[in-house]
Amino acid sequence: MLTKKKVKTPFDLIGNTPLVELKNFPLNNGNRLFAKLEFYNLGGSVKDRLGMNIIEQALLRGEIKMNTVVEATAGNTGIGLALACQKYNLKLRVYVPEKFSVEKQSIMRALGAEIINTPTEYGMLYAREQALNFAQKTGAFYTNQFESFDNPASYNALADEIKRDVGQVDVIVTGAGSGGTFTGLAQHFKESYRVIVEPEGSILNGGAAGSHRTEGIGVEKWPPFLEKDLIDKIETISDIDAFTRVTELAQKESLLTGSSSGAALHAALKVQESMTNSNIVVIFPDAAERYLSKQIFNIKGE
Ligand code: PMP
Repeated sequence: MLTKKKVKTPFDLIGNTPLVELKNFPLNNGNRLFAKLEFYNLGGSVKDRLGMNIIEQALLRGEIKMNTVVEATAGNTGIGLALACQKYNLKLRVYVPEKFSVEKQSIMRALGAEIINTPTEYGMLYAREQALNFAQKTGAFYTNQFESFDNPASYNALADEIKRDVGQVDVIVTGAGSGGTFTGLAQHFKESYRVIVEPEGSILNGGAAGSHRTEGIGVEKWPPFLEKDLIDKIETISDIDAFTRVTELAQKESLLTGSSSGAALHAALKVQESMTNSNIVVIFPDAAERYLSKQIFNIKGE
């Protein structure tokens, strides 16, 4: 019989995700490549960690007044927040630009979120304005992942898990949407070479914001918590390279990931070319199944 101590609740399935070594991509001398599989979180992405932390911090500070939470999101944050709102009996309203995958929107709805779609061409900045307006009008709590310092702080446990499983981390590679995952990890890996990954059409490497198909990453406005000295390298990756790596991950490593994982892998493989004897850790934020409507595999007939 199970002892009571061993019985988990679904919410215990956030964090403590597996880390695996990828052995089927050619690497420079002595380099090893490790992937942290964040799609093993309860809601299927790295952003479950943020959803839970941002709500728990707000509850601790007594900031949630009208029992309602509002956010602008590409989807994964909304899923993480929907889980946290279920746990704490809160209502959730999310503003989602309509281009983002219908799978993520269905999952958010299934978990009880109310979705308001905003026009794709107005970008995430417009969705953010709408969320803020709603909060100001109604007194709902705006989680504001794009500016909240609780966002990077959501990844303390992620950093600890990586240190526990890998030991010496020479390079850490992660994509940026809000920039929270990168910032949180970069603060914990000050001795490592820290690589932030964006798609073409994101502003970190300069240039104007533009469209891209790689979903979940891409920055329209520099995040206030992302200090420049945390970044050793910004890698800007094309959609085609990200999608090609997603296909290779499925075929060479039996890993079904989303396109931001493909972009992060492509960046990691580039960066390792000028290194030897290094442990490289790359974050895989979510899985392929929530993008099947987006043809993320570069396979003929798809
Ligand atoms: N990949 C995916 C699939 C995501 O949904 C997100 C979050 N939008 C990220 C990467 C980037 O995470 P962050 O917001 O912490 O930069």
